[in-house]
Amino acid sequence: MNKMAQKLAPSGVARDFGFFIDGEWRHGREMFERKSPSHDVIVTRIARCTEDDLNDAVAAARRAFENGTWAGLASSERSAILLKTAELLKQRRDDIAFWEVLENGKPISQAKAEIDNCISCFEMAAGAARLLHGDSFNNLGESLFGMVLREPVGVVGLITPWNFPFMILCERVPFILASGCTVVVKPAEVTSATTLMLADILTEAGLPKGVYNVVTGTGKSVGQALTQHPDVDMLSFTGSTGVGRSCIHASADSNLKKLGLELGGKNPIVVFADSDLEDAADAVAFGISFNTGQCCVSSSRLIVEESVADKFEKLVVAKMEKIRVGDPFDPETQIGAITTDAQNKTILDYIEKGKAEGARVLCGGNKVDLGRGQYIAPTLFTNVKPDMSIATDEIFGPVLSVFRFSTLEEAISLANDTVYGLAASVWTKDISKALKVTRKVQAGRFWVNTIMAGGPEMPLGGFKQSGWGREAGMYGVEEYTQIKSVHVDLGKRTHWIA
Ligand code: NDP
Repeated sequence: MNKMAQKLAPSGVARDFGFFIDGEWRHGREMFERKSPSHDVIVTRIARCTEDDLNDAVAAARRAFENGTWAGLASSERSAILLKTAELLKQRRDDIAFWEVLENGKPISQAKAEIDNCISCFEMAAGAARLLHGDSFNNLGESLFGMVLREPVGVVGLITPWNFPFMILCERVPFILASGCTVVVKPAEVTSATTLMLADILTEAGLPKGVYNVVTGTGKSVGQALTQHPDVDMLSFTGSTGVGRSCIHASADSNLKKLGLELGGKNPIVVFADSDLEDAADAVAFGISFNTGQCCVSSSRLIVEESVADKFEKLVVAKMEKIRVGDPFDPETQIGAITTDAQNKTILDYIEKGKAEGARVLCGGNKVDLGRGQYIAPTLFTNVKPDMSIATDEIFGPVLSVFRFSTLEEAISLANDTVYGLAASVWTKDISKALKVTRKVQAGRFWVNTIMAGGPEMPLGGFKQSGWGREAGMYGVEEYTQIKSVHVDLGKRTHWIA
């Protein structure tokens, strides 16, 4: 471990967190102890909230919504608080990154870059708050005038996962707040710290009490109760497709709350023979290894043109073998720990299934022993058949499967051969091929000769079983609003009853 990593390593003293309702911290009666997945020591103690706590949080969010202390502000005032939050995040960047790394296991350099993106989300949302507007219809005839008012949806429930605890939060919360809604957040239990830390920052920035509330605990208890709550107007959920489906049932069985869902992916990266193969190989290795592949937009299916496939596989292997797996506090580390024990087992099980089903490992395929923590080497499988589990399932780890194509149509068909439609990437120097693939492949996010590029201006979300709705950008903020058509009679009524 280098000196910087030693300096940042966990102190051995776990930090206790309460939960946050109506502008105040509360203590939990039962606590969950979170171990750092990289260091095997307890780093945080997180409250296990009860259903009563959740009811209090929703009631606080309801009061804050109805009393107009937030939705009733001028957009310039809401915007100012979002901008102040961005300023405070700049000051606390290193502290937030530290806790993110301890609970999640991601490399410190990556955690800091993610927080920069979070700052950008608050800045973008500050602008979006001021741009939100309705519409008018002056073409309904002499005596009728139409207006379309855009109003906040109300109380939003937000359930976030453990892979990007702070970034996924910040791709949603600023936009929810920009719209005038209030929110109750339930983070993944294993990575709750930074969601709780945001409460103090928002308060310091001037957010009125009750607008941002956090309840902690497991998905099965407090998360499920949030999805079923009759006084939550909208739910934004990010996580597995299975739980996404249960959110739909919960909405149907309660109050038909509006849903935003960002779910799984099995994302294709299509590489044509005419692309810059060195660049493409780097992107392929990055696309599957970034965040240890625990990323909904990981490009986990490489679809490469047959004529260059052997050569390209070698280029990718050379890149993947150079990736630095290590202690996440080492600034040189590119791949950190696998975040949860369950996910570690899932990934290792898929690697074994891939071998058993006849796919061939070209690199990786094993754990990396660093003396403590749980690490997996970036893994490349070739000879993968479309019906193998490593070809169809979202593994959510650094495991890449290779497929080969001979024609453009075959490439498109392979890319679409999945129930998911979250993201896709295409590599070629021929613009017409790039656009044909972009138009025919079903995915909510597309990258041409790049991978995972973007910022909060661009909407996020999926086609097919990857979800409903969009987050971020103007499209994202509009999801948290509803529109009302207003008809104004300007003349004298023509009587129906003479
Ligand atoms: P889950 O979908 O279970 O977890 C995501 C969030 O939902 C967490 O906050 C979790 O809480 C909560 N949750 C769990 N069960 C319920 C429920 N019944 N009702 C309401 N909320 C619930 O994902 P896992 O952590 O189990 O990961 C499993 C797989 O899901 C991964 O292997 C990956 O394939 C996929 N996934 C996809 C993500 C994405 O970004 N699209 C993110 C995470 C996972 P808690 O964790 O506290 O129990």
